[in-house]
Amino acid sequence: MARSQLEYAFEATPADGTVAEIVPGLLWLRMPLPFVLDHVNLWALEDDDGWCLVDAGYDTEAIRGIWQELFAGPLAGRPVTRILATHMHPDHIGLAGWLLERCSAEFLTTQAEWLAARMLWLDDSDGLLEVYDRFYSRAGLEQAVVEELKQRRSAYRQAVTPVPPSFHRLHEGDVLTIGGRSWQVMIGQGHSPEHVSLYCRELGMLIAGDQVLPRISPNVSVWPSSPEADPLGEFLTSLPMFAPLPDDVLVLPSHGRPFRGLAERVAELVAHHDDRLDETLAACRRPATVRQVTTALFPRALDRHQTMFAVGETVAHLNRLVATGDIGRSLEKGVWRFSAD
Ligand SMILES: [Zn+2]
Repeated sequence: MARSQLEYAFEATPADGTVAEIVPGLLWLRMPLPFVLDHVNLWALEDDDGWCLVDAGYDTEAIRGIWQELFAGPLAGRPVTRILATHMHPDHIGLAGWLLERCSAEFLTTQAEWLAARMLWLDDSDGLLEVYDRFYSRAGLEQAVVEELKQRRSAYRQAVTPVPPSFHRLHEGDVLTIGGRSWQVMIGQGHSPEHVSLYCRELGMLIAGDQVLPRISPNVSVWPSSPEADPLGEFLTSLPMFAPLPDDVLVLPSHGRPFRGLAERVAELVAHHDDRLDETLAACRRPATVRQVTTALFPRALDRHQTMFAVGETVAHLNRLVATGDIGRSLEKGVWRFSAD
């Protein structure tokens, strides 16, 4: 994807664990992540009688320590009264349960995000292993790789503290009043089941979560539990929800720096997936396995964590092409083959 000319609102990303003020009453908290994607942005919004936190971070000792420093420093003097999770991924919801044990706050998210998070956190059943086995075997991966990926089923629990057993359910179009300002709930799909973004007309700001990111395209993957899903179709259907927002809206993304140019960025994401769909179709001129198409789309060497995401993204593009009728899928000797014939 061509590097876009987005206008960034800050010269640089603040250092891990530091706070930057976007406007009075809205703080940008940057937290380190132990991956190639090395940070996540969280937001603290001053409410009338406390803080409303948007996302909680991944469960690592480093982030727990940073939270404790923040509560003793920039966030001191006000209790946390609300914790809102944009979605169920560990870098966002991970420490919500841990934070909630330390304050009597309300937990807010959408129904599908809560259900998925709670289910993943609790599900330790062997049936899940069979589902992983079938999915990655049908993708044509070597058995040794399949076995390693099966071990990753507990990865969610390792990065997430107990998912809160109750929540305040957010709906599309809800308006939250936070510190006297109105924030409108916008629900997107594709990256996660019912992802929350928050728009404040008064500030001209969008807390975008992962629905739109400035430098990377949000991960859109098919997972073993729903192998025939079409999350890319859902993602592309969701993006126009941002079209009515003003051109100069300041986007506060979960990864990267705040930027202006939302419509341009949305167009880039659509173009990126169009290109990837073309590449996927080209890889299916002759019947191809998921593994073969993954190698065509991601030619560089991948570690296991990256392999899991690459396979998921590849199947998302394949399933989109199946949905549009451009390719067909068949199961031969336990392995899927996708073909444009
Ligand atoms: Zn994220």
